[in-house]
Amino acid sequence: MSYVKGLFCKECGREYPAEPLNVCDFCFGPLEVTYDYDAISSVVSRERIENGPRSMWRYHDFLPAEAENAIDINAGYTPLIKANNLARSLGLDELYLKNDAVNPSFSFKDRVVAVASTKAREFGFDTLACASTGNLAGSVAAHAARAGMRAFVFIPADLERGKILGAAVYGPTLVAVDGSYDDVNRLCSELSDSYNWAFVNINMRPYYAEGSKSLGFEVAEQLGWRAPDNCIVPGASGSLFTKIWKGLNEFSSAGLIGDVNTRMFICQAEGCAPIVTAHKAGDFAIRPVKPNTIAKSLAIGNPADGYFALRVLEATGGSGCAVPEEEVAEGIKDLAEMEGIFTEPAGGVVVASLKRLARSGQIKPWETTVAFITGNGYKTQEVVEDTVRPVLIKPTFAAFEEALSVRP
Ligand SMILES: *Cc1c(COP(=O)(O)O)cnc(C)c1O
Ligand SMILES: [Zn+2]
Repeated sequence: MSYVKGLFCKECGREYPAEPLNVCDFCFGPLEVTYDYDAISSVVSRERIENGPRSMWRYHDFLPAEAENAIDINAGYTPLIKANNLARSLGLDELYLKNDAVNPSFSFKDRVVAVASTKAREFGFDTLACASTGNLAGSVAAHAARAGMRAFVFIPADLERGKILGAAVYGPTLVAVDGSYDDVNRLCSELSDSYNWAFVNINMRPYYAEGSKSLGFEVAEQLGWRAPDNCIVPGASGSLFTKIWKGLNEFSSAGLIGDVNTRMFICQAEGCAPIVTAHKAGDFAIRPVKPNTIAKSLAIGNPADGYFALRVLEATGGSGCAVPEEEVAEGIKDLAEMEGIFTEPAGGVVVASLKRLARSGQIKPWETTVAFITGNGYKTQEVVEDTVRPVLIKPTFAAFEEALSVRP
């Protein structure tokens, strides 16, 4: 059973029933799910979780949808890998990569959509929809296919080919909008007033966002039931960043891990860094920007959870890192060449940030650091296409040896 009590407004605290709502009627603040934490604490244990399914549904006690009803393409339970080569190159002792690029639709978005789609079906919706920077469209389309629901997914028209194909293949109605993500999001907010659809990141947003907590849960379990010292997380709307932190704290409050002293670092590319910019300026008001970045999955100029991400930065003593655009592809190459993981630009932003944070001493060698790799490089091949060159030869021994001898 689910331990949801209802929703509450993050600005004014007003309470609402657990319905498909996302903003407060009184102050327009965003709504968040509340739980009966005493009831959760009385049932959860490490053993109960360890005996659960090998997916994010092992944490169902902390999620707002029923595991028995789950629209399940097996999101979550992804590898946490000790990154010895990358660590050595940065002078770190204990670096881990949370490889969420290997989720079923190849990004962490499967976690949020698993919850949002399940909840949508519980509410009786027959259609899933979303405003996407790319990965969300693929995940919504995949979950809708699995559930036999209709899907309308909206993307900016200028996305990478692999993101478009990676959504279209599941058979949704794919709507490419001539505009930025922020335009797509505005359009979808308007549509959600007239169409009785479950827009996973609009009217279903409180439930959707909870799915990201599972990344915090999973990392704590995989580290042997403890929180890391540092989390390095990419930021678009800022939701994922705040929910990893929430997940760690829920685990601690329930007695599953000890105190959480984790510093949270949020990473963006310079071409779209409204959260990092506000943090550096010591400002709690985000100034929206017009994105111009190679990291299209992070290209949200007006981040819905930006304010809350800034609060988490403040509360944890973490910081923001904005990396120059030219370091993004370099970060992708570093991760591929040193650790055998092919990520998309969001992961390139994380690796580039990690390098900067390690070199500047903001993260220390002896600390446990987890870098979150949230998306897969096969969807964004054009970003590194001209850095690779096969050796082309005739099919003869001599041709091979000749090619070898002229290679540097
Ligand atoms: C959506 C996305 C993010 C960030 O998500 P937010 O919760 O909006 O901050 C990070 N990485 C990838 C690959 C994504 O697709
Ligand atoms: Zn309110």
